[in-house]
Amino acid sequence: GKGAAMVTAVAYRLVSQRKQIDETLAPFKLSRQHLQDVKDKMRVELERGLKKDTHHSASVKMLPSYVYGTPDGTERGKFLALDVGGTNFRVLLVKIYSGLRKSIRMYNKIYAIPLEIMQGTGEELFDHIVQCISDFLDYMGMKNACLPLGFTFSFPCRQAGIDKGSLVSWTKGFKATDCEGQDVVDMLREAMKRRNEFDLDIVAMVNDTVGTMMTCAYEDPNCEIGLIAGTGSNVCYMEEMRNIETVEGEEGRMCVNTEWGGFGDNDCIEFIRTKFDREVDEGSLNQGKQRYEKMTSGMYLGEIVRQILIDLTKRGLLFRGQISERLRTRGIFETKFLSQIESDRLALLQVRGILQQLGLDSTCDDSIIVKEVCGVVSRRAAQICGAGMAAIADKIRENRGLEQLDITVGVDGTLYKLHPHFSKVLKETVKDLAPQCDVTFVLSEDGSGKGAALITAVAQRLHSHT
Ligand code: BGC
Ligand code: MG
Repeated sequence: GKGAAMVTAVAYRLVSQRKQIDETLAPFKLSRQHLQDVKDKMRVELERGLKKDTHHSASVKMLPSYVYGTPDGTERGKFLALDVGGTNFRVLLVKIYSGLRKSIRMYNKIYAIPLEIMQGTGEELFDHIVQCISDFLDYMGMKNACLPLGFTFSFPCRQAGIDKGSLVSWTKGFKATDCEGQDVVDMLREAMKRRNEFDLDIVAMVNDTVGTMMTCAYEDPNCEIGLIAGTGSNVCYMEEMRNIETVEGEEGRMCVNTEWGGFGDNDCIEFIRTKFDREVDEGSLNQGKQRYEKMTSGMYLGEIVRQILIDLTKRGLLFRGQISERLRTRGIFETKFLSQIESDRLALLQVRGILQQLGLDSTCDDSIIVKEVCGVVSRRAAQICGAGMAAIADKIRENRGLEQLDITVGVDGTLYKLHPHFSKVLKETVKDLAPQCDVTFVLSEDGSGKGAALITAVAQRLHSHT
């Protein structure tokens, strides 16, 4: 009868809706072979970045850090540290004690970098940074102290020494003018001169991955890799000097800042990019750049999700076919929200509550679909990040001619720390793709602050001996 016909129509609609959603999400579900290919391609790019002939065209830049070793516990002193380029901008005072009291103490203050400053002029940006240092020194009552400063600057920099580095290009949300190609340490010094209020000795400049590795290595000498899975994505690790053709010398090791976020900028991972990844790229500040980062880091995962939701809504599969103003707004799905939506402890009703907070009116069915979309996007991120990590671990193992490698990765970043599944999937993938490596992940909190201070301590020690 009529009832049965209606039931059939509804069932048909559901089946067809399911099919369309599955088809949309299918390109995000990578096979083991895909991941193996990502690992292999990463390995190729790592090598190209290290070699003199291919360095300039490599998508993974492999920038030398001039950090030659991990801490040995004899580091000591009082340092200022700056952390620019993570989720928060911070100024820190770090005290390192050696000997029996070996420990690190920190005091820090978080400051905002307003959007108009992130995207204003370079001078304005560095004046703002120096103004925050000034506020911090006042706050700590240390205006007259002349402390050594370690500067964590979480962007690709071509370094010529531990205290020199020119910005290759801005990433993430930054786009201040007149900085690319400039020495960032000089820019900071100039800004301090302009203010003419205090004197600090800028001893070291480091990438956040390097700071994170050093902080972890301070506790665990097996830590020779640093990973950031946060707003941005990047890795550093200890490479053999003989393999780093862009730096003189054959002996020992140096930490290399891979800048793997740029992996694929030469089209080598197009086989896993979807039309949604391309849309996210087109809406970004740095089109065509940081393609791997745009598939794996907190700043972009929410954007991929948003593009998929818009597509499903346009096709009438979601939100009753109504694209709200909110859904059109860039950046609404921060890592924090994705993490909440995907939390298994949350009932669907609560997922709807979160969507409501974001200004999105959803039915129960909608909330199921949104959760599924988030899951697929973050899982792929963790998997390809794991594939990259497997390439790094295997490279280190082969460098050392080992059958089996035992190594620790120091990790920081909001995605790794907040997301309910990211770290688990990352670890599973590494285990699967690098079976000859025993990789332990250790959370290395505050690496950018402590690490900068540790590196500054080492740099100062070496300096005073020459
Ligand atoms: C930057 C890296 C940084 C990473 C994590 C990327 O966008 O290029 O230098 O380590 O973000 O903060
Ligand atoms: Mg950071």
